[in-house]
Parts: sequence; structure tokens; C-alpha cells
Amino acid sequence: MEDCIFCKIIKKEVPADVVYEDDEIIAFKDIQPAAPIHILVIPKKHIASLAQLTKDDETLIGRIYTVINEVASKQGVKERGYRVIVNCGEDGGQEVGHLHFHLLAGKKLGEKIV
Ligand code: 5GP
Ligand code: ZN
Repeated sequence: MEDCIFCKIIKKEVPADVVYEDDEIIAFKDIQPAAPIHILVIPKKHIASLAQLTKDDETLIGRIYTVINEVASKQGVKERGYRVIVNCGEDGGQEVGHLHFHLLAGKKLGEKIV
């Protein structure tokens, strides 16, 4: 996607603090961290939002959760715990139109909505 900031990060056109990368998935530190550890785990395939997923993406999404666990382990927070958030669409508060999973950890996280 031409003007997608996360696609630019994938193509290394925009710098990011990458903590994990393979053929299909990349994870990097959020530029405005909301917790001591705030990492975005994203598919390299440009999927605009959770709402745009298709059946073909099921394996990929499963792999993303495996990567999230690996990253949490590497960051040393697997035992204490973490939170994974996906914002979807306008009401969901999504600002970047490329599917991403927020991994938040490193402190007792604030108020739960659900
Ligand atoms: P959303 O609100 O769409 O769920 O989350 C988008 C996230 O992307 C925000 O937490 C924001 O700080 C992060 N973000 C936006 N632009 C950039 C960028 O250029 N680099 C990095 N590392 N994070 C970004
Ligand atoms: Zn993109």
C-alpha cells in the first residue's frame, strides 16, 4: 500500500525499532508507548483492519499470536502477564489502517473496559 505508514516500516522506508521479523510478520516498538513495553505486531500483508480478514488469513492470525508470545517471552513479561489489543474501525479507535496487535506490558495495566 503506497501511503500506509506500516507498509513503509515493512519496506524499511521508515525507521522503526524492530524486535521480531520473519517472512510474514514484523514486530516493532510503538512510537508513543502507552506502557513500559508497547510493541505492535503486524502482518506484512496489508490488511486494512480486523474487519477485512478473510478465511485465507486464519493461519496467519494464529501465527501472529505465537509471535506475540515469543516477543512477550523475549521481553521478559510472559510470566507476569500482558494485554493484547486490536482496535478496529472508527468506533474501535483504529488510527492506522493496517491491521496491528498492540502488546502492552511492564506494569499493572489500568482500567479494563471488558
Ligand atoms: P491504533 O490507534 O490504530 O490502534 O494504533 C496505532 C498505533 O501506531 C499508535 O499506538 C501509534 O502510536 C503507533 N504509530 C503510529 N505511527 C507510527 C510510526 O510511524 N511508528 C511507530 N513505531 N508507531 C507508530
Ligand atoms: Zn499497510
